[in-house]
Order: sequence, then structure tokens, then C-alpha cells
Amino acid sequence: MTKYPPLIDPFNRKINYLRVSVTDRCDFRCVYCMSEKMQFLPKKDLLTLEELDKICSVFIEMGITKLRITGGEPLVRRNILSFFKSISRHLITGDLKELTLTTNGSQLKKFARPLFDLGVKRVNISLDTLNPEKFKRITRWGKLDQVLDGIQEAKEVGLAIKINKVALKKTNQDELNKFIQWCGDEGFDLTFIEVMPMGDFGEEDRLDQYWSLKDLREELEKKWTLKDISLTTGGPARYSEISETGQKVGFITPLTHNFCESCNRVRMTCTGQLFMCLGQEEDADLRSALREGSDNDHLLRKRIMQAVDRKPKGHDFDYSRKKISGQMSRFMSHTGG
Ligand code: SAM
Ligand code: SF4
Repeated sequence: MTKYPPLIDPFNRKINYLRVSVTDRCDFRCVYCMSEKMQFLPKKDLLTLEELDKICSVFIEMGITKLRITGGEPLVRRNILSFFKSISRHLITGDLKELTLTTNGSQLKKFARPLFDLGVKRVNISLDTLNPEKFKRITRWGKLDQVLDGIQEAKEVGLAIKINKVALKKTNQDELNKFIQWCGDEGFDLTFIEVMPMGDFGEEDRLDQYWSLKDLREELEKKWTLKDISLTTGGPARYSEISETGQKVGFITPLTHNFCESCNRVRMTCTGQLFMCLGQEEDADLRSALREGSDNDHLLRKRIMQAVDRKPKGHDFDYSRKKISGQMSRFMSHTGG
């Protein structure tokens, strides 16, 4: 049982889902996510694993039932298993219903088994191509074989797998059917994500990469039968089933579809900044509540409640008329995708 009244925002949305970025660092440099020469945050600015545990535990007391760990690459954070181990105590009490993560898969060969043993049952793995050269081009530093080995390990230990694939014009457009077939054969769900205007690298042109999921879906329907299913996760994905494979496909279309009315989530960065909306700059500083206060549990709860009271109605992304408005200056690896 949670100790406090549920977190309800001004638009009557119940907030029960927290995404936490545990590091801004990564072993890849995906072209749409990071610049090749990323400047990472000073270590002292990052929340320690104990501080992360503390804040997550306060959120859980306040009614968060689903926790997704992300990054950067969460599995490159040193001693990350000790964090999973400690936070999994809330799964045992039943206060936390789901503990999950989003990963690039590079470290799963090592971590899939211990994560499963600690109560993680599902994992989202980002994979944009099955072609080793293209994989190298997209991730700059990644090795496809290593990720595929990690995915197989995750499958073998019993983790349910969802593949996240960013739709990239000209880059992975030609692999659409291959991906559907592969996920169908392996028993993985698949979600397509529209590339979002995060960060400003001055290297890659967002409009050039942008492939609308409306167009992608039309392409899919030439070969596969898609049946819409009413699965609501409170997130930006809409789901269909591919009749031929029985597999679920999701479409995350933050730019062409307004999903905000059912938003149930908030996001925290690895420095303790709480963002109420992925597409808005407004934030709350939870690290200072933790590091400066004497009764910091009380201060944290107060900051969280005040922040949820300021959750905006929606975001302002807009690619229309070839102009990106609502472009965010922060990186996805900072906020946590
Ligand atoms: N490193 C982990 C991974 O790649 O899964 C977790 C963090 S990553 C920031 C989370 C998700 O954000 C990934 O699926 C990635 O493809 C997606 N992402 C990053 N930058 C993006 C962008 N500009 N537009 C859309 N999705 C993006
Ligand atoms: Fe790293 Fe994930 Fe960003 Fe790729 S998308 S650079 S794997 S954080």
C-alpha cells in the first residue's frame, strides 16, 4: 500500500509511471541521439546510486507503480546491478508492479540473467537495422553481433522483448519487411519511433532523417495485414497486430499524433531534474531537495507534488511546413528516452 494520495495533475491525469535516466554516458554514439564528440556531465553532478534509490523510493510511496530505467545506456553505469537489486525490494512488497529498462543491448549478454533474477520481466531493446555496416553507421561505435548476442541471451533467460526501431529515411527504409519477419520469427514485439528534434548537433539534419510513420504504415500495409488493437499504455504508442505473424507492432508518433491527453508519466534525469513533459523545458530540481534539506523526504515529496501540479497539457513539436518548431535543446540521452 502506498502511503500518500495519488499524484494527479491539473488535467486529471494520474501519474503512476516514472522513467529514470541513470547516466548520460553511452558506449554508442547514435547519429540521431548524440554528437560524435559528446561532452558528458561532471561525475559530481550525477545522482549517486543511493540517491537514485532514495528518490525512486519516495516516488513509489507516492503511487508510482511502473519504473523504467534508461539513459544514456543504463547498463554502462558502474554497479548498476546494485541499484536494481536494492530497488527490486519494492517489487517484493508489491508497491512497484513493474521494473523495466530500455537498453541498446550491448551489455545484455552479461546482465540479462541477473536482471531477470531480480524481477525484471520485460526489456525494450533499441535496434534500427540488421545490417552490420548500417549498424556501424547509425551507432558509430556499436557492433551488431554483440547486440544480437545480447538479445539472444535475453530471450533465453525468459525476458519478454520489445524492439524499438527509429524510422530513418533512406537509412532503414528498405528493411521494413525483413524486420517484421525477424521479430515475428523470434517472438519479439516491435515499435517504430519517429525521429524527434532533440539536441542540436549541427551535424545531422533532422528533417533529412524524418520518415513519417504514416508513410511507413502505408508501406507496411502493401505486404502485411494490420489490425488495430486497443492497447493503452498511457504513452505515445498506438498498437496493431500483424495477422500473418500474430505479432504486435507499435507506432510512436509524437510529431503527427497528439497523445498527451492520456499521459501518465514523468521523467527524471541522472542529475535529478524532473521533467513533466518530454517536449517542454519546464523542470523541477530534486537533487537540491535531497542534498540540501535536513528532512529531505518531506522536501522531496513537496517538490514532486508541486512539479506534478505544473505538468503541462502537452508538447509543441511540429515538423510542419519544413520548419522544426518546438525543437528541444536537450538530448534524449539526458532526459532518458
Ligand atoms: N541507450 C538506450 C537505448 O538506446 O535504448 C536507452 C536510452 S535511448 C536515449 C532511448 C530511446 O530513445 C532509444 O530507443 C533511441 O532510439 C531513442 N532516441 C534517441 N534519440 C532519439 C531521437 N532524436 N528521436 C527519436 N528517438 C530517439
Ligand atoms: Fe546511446 Fe541509446 Fe543514445 Fe544510441 S540512442 S547513443 S544507444 S543513449
